[in-house]
Amino acid sequence: MKFEIPPLPYAKDALEPTMSALTLEIHHGKHHQGYLDKLRELVEGTRREDFSLEELLLTSDGEVFNNASQAWNHAFFWQSMRPQGGGRPAGRLLEALERDFGSFARFRTEFAEVATAHFGSGWAWLVRGSAGQLRVSSTSNADNPLRHRTVPLLTLDVWEHAYYLDHRNERARYVDGFLDQLVNWEFASANLEFMAARPPRSGARGRRGSTARRR
Ligand code: FE
Repeated sequence: MKFEIPPLPYAKDALEPTMSALTLEIHHGKHHQGYLDKLRELVEGTRREDFSLEELLLTSDGEVFNNASQAWNHAFFWQSMRPQGGGRPAGRLLEALERDFGSFARFRTEFAEVATAHFGSGWAWLVRGSAGQLRVSSTSNADNPLRHRTVPLLTLDVWEHAYYLDHRNERARYVDGFLDQLVNWEFASANLEFMAARPPRSGARGRRGSTARRR
């Protein structure tokens, strides 16, 4: 069946204490599942029912876009974390972060500031721009960097449903926990390596078989 939810790549309690089993149960089982259920309802029986999530988020607006993009973003978010994550990346990704931010510490500060300061619901991202430079950005609600000709390498959900049970209103504490304990740098590195192997401005629409598309 189309639009199946991808299973979490770890046990529900594997990200504690930064992200509790209860948060993951609701976030994955209710929020993420809910976007897919709604999307199926919206596109079943239409010409778009065979589109991938990426095709839907790039070509739709309104409710179809919101639900397709949220489903894509959540699948990408689960992979952006791992048990005993955090720390620093290695290899080409570390070199690129040092080149484009000055140091890994400055990248970390900027990511934490952008994620914490983003107003309202949305997502913080590490992205690769069309000229190959890395930068931090945030998007509101369901929006996704692929709509802005940038390629996501890593994301953090900053909707309140992602952290309120565990951290109440303290988003900064959640962001620090993500950066220190959960970030899956291997996932971000794999996304960068995949893009580096392609010519510049090849376009997100042509991307096939990336880690992000596995679902
Ligand atoms: Fe979420």
